[in-house]
Amino acid sequence: MGVGMIPVEKARSLVLDQIQRMGTEKQDLLHSLGRVLAEPVVSGRDHPPWNSSAMDGYAVRHEDVSTASEKKPVRLDVVEEIAAGALPTKTVEKGQAGRIMTGAPVPKGADAVVRVEDTRTEGDSVQIVCPAERGENVRLRGEDIQAGLVVLAQNSVMGPAEVGMLASVGRSHVLVYQRPRVAILATGNELADFHEPLTPNKIMNSNGYALAAQVLEAGGVPVILGIARDNREDLQDRLTQARSSDLILISGGVSVGMYDFVKDVLEQLGILMAFWKVAMKPGEPLAFGSLQGKPIFGLPGNPVSTMVTFEQFVRPALRKMEGHTLLFRPVIEASLMERLTKKPGKTHFVRAVVKKTGDRYEVWTTGSQSSGVLTSMVKADGLLIFPSESDEMAKGQVVKVQLLGKSFLGQPDPGY
Ligand code: AMP
Ligand code: MG
Repeated sequence: MGVGMIPVEKARSLVLDQIQRMGTEKQDLLHSLGRVLAEPVVSGRDHPPWNSSAMDGYAVRHEDVSTASEKKPVRLDVVEEIAAGALPTKTVEKGQAGRIMTGAPVPKGADAVVRVEDTRTEGDSVQIVCPAERGENVRLRGEDIQAGLVVLAQNSVMGPAEVGMLASVGRSHVLVYQRPRVAILATGNELADFHEPLTPNKIMNSNGYALAAQVLEAGGVPVILGIARDNREDLQDRLTQARSSDLILISGGVSVGMYDFVKDVLEQLGILMAFWKVAMKPGEPLAFGSLQGKPIFGLPGNPVSTMVTFEQFVRPALRKMEGHTLLFRPVIEASLMERLTKKPGKTHFVRAVVKKTGDRYEVWTTGSQSSGVLTSMVKADGLLIFPSESDEMAKGQVVKVQLLGKSFLGQPDPGY
């Protein structure tokens, strides 16, 4: 490992140790989707709030219909009709039934519901052709939710079911962790943005947009600060604007080129750096520290390095800020379909294509692993982890692949 270079795992824990959770805010239930709950949600009411019918049919006393059959139906007097949204007004006495709809309260006296398909209507009475057990087709009061119980734990991630649950307990708003605002600053004299001409000496600022998309995908709010030119004044000016954000990302300029001023400027601004270099590929020049309490990352400028270092360090940091307890991408085991070699000393994150064959995963590289080849990220389903100490991975070996959240499984067999 080179001078001042630290292992990926060490860098990750240095980052996460410094990261604090965001404050909280009230959010309306639909906009809480994807956010993390900052309070437990307790129901004030039972659900269902009454013993309710699970079927359209007849509410009966089960002992009245215990002998009912097609050949020997039991005749009951129908005393009332109870629609969903109505409350029963009568007690079902011996020899009686109530016509009832799904979701309506089961009347007093009745303890079972016979499905309408198992009955024959005859004027004001009904013939029951099937016996029913006590409690059949009755959803008991509080079966789903009991008053006073925690229905959503603090730190739950709000998905559609959680949104439905909030509505179910009558909560239109809920306390969630705030989304971090992430300042994104690209650096480089060679960069152009959409409002500028793409002259022959320029390339597009793709990192600004790839990073903004990664921030959005990770649940943050990107604040695009454009391009700082490779001079101290411009960098300093734009970094001053970045201070109103919760986290700062700078791409490029952290290397040892003649115009890599990020290090100088950050030091001038009084930043405390935790590290400048991580033993990984792509992504070796990678800086992390805090600028007046704000976490700041100096990401390498090469488009793949920027994205891969974001994945390894920034995404988990943002998720921690957002209150998530699961910070990392899922990792699967897959059979390596080609032999790989490298020099030991750095962890390699190899862009890889994953395929599911039968009940196992197979993995290939995407081809060129140059850190300038953004196509490799477009193709990649995951990052194959080639551990620091190894120099070879054999064809057929089981390897770890960090999945990037794309759907690589293809269309499922519709016969499932
Ligand atoms: P640097 O780290 O500034 O030396 O940049 C390394 C490489 O990444 C150079 O080839 C840059 O042109 C390229 N690069 C830096 N920033 C960006 C960016 N925002 N968008 C696309 N490429 C970039
Ligand atoms: Mg540069």
